[in-house]
Amino acid sequence: MSVLIVGSTALDSIKTPRQQHPRLLGGSASYASVAASFFAPVKMVGVVGNDFPAAHLQLYKKHKIDLEGLQIVSGKTFHWSGEYELNMNNRRTLATELGVFESFTPHLPVSYQKSAFVLLANIAPGLQLHVLDQMRKPKFVVADTMDLWLNIALPDLLKLLKRVDGFVLNESEAQQLTQEQNLIRAAKKIHQLGPKYVIIKKGEHGAILSAKGKLFVAPAFPLEKVVDPTGAGDSFVGGMMGYLSTASGSIDSNLRRAIINGSVLASYCCEGFGLKALTRVTSAALNRRVKEYESVTRL
Ligand code: AMP
Repeated sequence: MSVLIVGSTALDSIKTPRQQHPRLLGGSASYASVAASFFAPVKMVGVVGNDFPAAHLQLYKKHKIDLEGLQIVSGKTFHWSGEYELNMNNRRTLATELGVFESFTPHLPVSYQKSAFVLLANIAPGLQLHVLDQMRKPKFVVADTMDLWLNIALPDLLKLLKRVDGFVLNESEAQQLTQEQNLIRAAKKIHQLGPKYVIIKKGEHGAILSAKGKLFVAPAFPLEKVVDPTGAGDSFVGGMMGYLSTASGSIDSNLRRAIINGSVLASYCCEGFGLKALTRVTSAALNRRVKEYESVTRL
């Protein structure tokens, strides 16, 4: 089964205390799609400008990502730049240039509309809703978000939450959305907004899944060196959805293992600038690291 992924397709300029890289391939849909592609065929929905390098399109193709839903229009590709502090956790957005995103309306090709697994990766909730409106009875829909949308598009986000199965957000976003510092209580409040599955990401401290009155806590894979954490959250959720779409059995019986596979892909993402490390992962390396993850977390 394939996974439909909508999100941002971007050029990212990233600055860390040690290095600086301009205009790398980025965006939530790029990270999530590459991560999901390790498990399943991906159908991507997004927009880029005519300045988007052909090499980036080649990279999508190398990962067998279906690009029928990627619009290439006249104008500039969405550009985001950010700078990390010494701890490599705190990040400051330096600039966001919307470019072709400003007038983007996602249109789903007919071949996309019956996808069973849908990931609404980080993008304006109005656009996430528009994609959902075009789907025909998807089996499992997960949405991701960011603080910006809580600040400027909360009504749309609340509308979206009533229509998704799962919601992924980070710790500070969960606290902002619910006005609740304690994450267990925050998750309970988010369930009341609609989603059956709530996943709260805690960066280098892993993630918490809350579902059906039960919790699952997944630490992040311990890394000795973080080169660039950009896109780790997107790789996490992309990997999780890719895994779920091909695993046999129910969502409930596969979700924990899906989260672990997502966590491992997120760890690879942090080991290189942009998508560099993630695109080099092999299935053998992925399986090895999943086993290593199991051994460092087993009691
Ligand atoms: P993450 O590190 O998981 O928060 O995701 C980083 C990615 O988010 C980068 O590749 C950016 O291009 C993308 N991004 C930044 N701002 C936005 C935005 N306003 N809408 C959609 N994607 C964004």
